[in-house]
Amino acid sequence: MIISGNRATKTGHQSLFGTKCSSCGTKDSLEMYTFSRYFHVFWIPVFPYKKEAITQCNHCKQILNKKEFSSDLLSQYEEMKANIKKPYWQYIGAVLFAVLIISVISSVREDNKKDIAFLNAPKAGDIYEIRTTDGQYTLYKVSEVKTDSVYILFNQFQSNKQSGLRQSKMNATSSFITEDYLPIAKKDLLVMKEKGEIQGVNR
Ligand SMILES: [Zn+2]
Repeated sequence: MIISGNRATKTGHQSLFGTKCSSCGTKDSLEMYTFSRYFHVFWIPVFPYKKEAITQCNHCKQILNKKEFSSDLLSQYEEMKANIKKPYWQYIGAVLFAVLIISVISSVREDNKKDIAFLNAPKAGDIYEIRTTDGQYTLYKVSEVKTDSVYILFNQFQSNKQSGLRQSKMNATSSFITEDYLPIAKKDLLVMKEKGEIQGVNR
């Protein structure tokens, strides 16, 4: 379950001099507080989305929110708002999320680079993660590398899920059929990778 919602934190406080309370008429009795409301996921702030303000009278305790401000209070609020430091920490969740996405993308890119390097210089024992034309997943194993081609051993197992490639029965040495092999031209390996037929290389 994802717990999310919004919270507000105080960003400023100022005593308002020269202003009368609209309720009890007391002069210099108003305090203005400003808040920044932010969206959170699991209490980690993601982004701020609303600025709020209230005044409280020290004498009669009346609280007014921004919608109820007189034009005088509004202009004092605008002045105060200009000096409020932006609560940048309220973006921390968004920043963390961006960092996570970037690191996932760069690790996928690194994997892809590594796969291409392995396919450019195949070695006996390399395991290719294969997605067949009918959408099944299986493993191929390079048994021998010749000048222009590689000899591939098929696996006796297939899975309809990519996660099936990690099954221990598929990865066992005995699961590769050694009675027969398929020669594949080295230059076709990268084409198979581009087409998504070879999904990954394990060495
Ligand atoms: Zn008052």
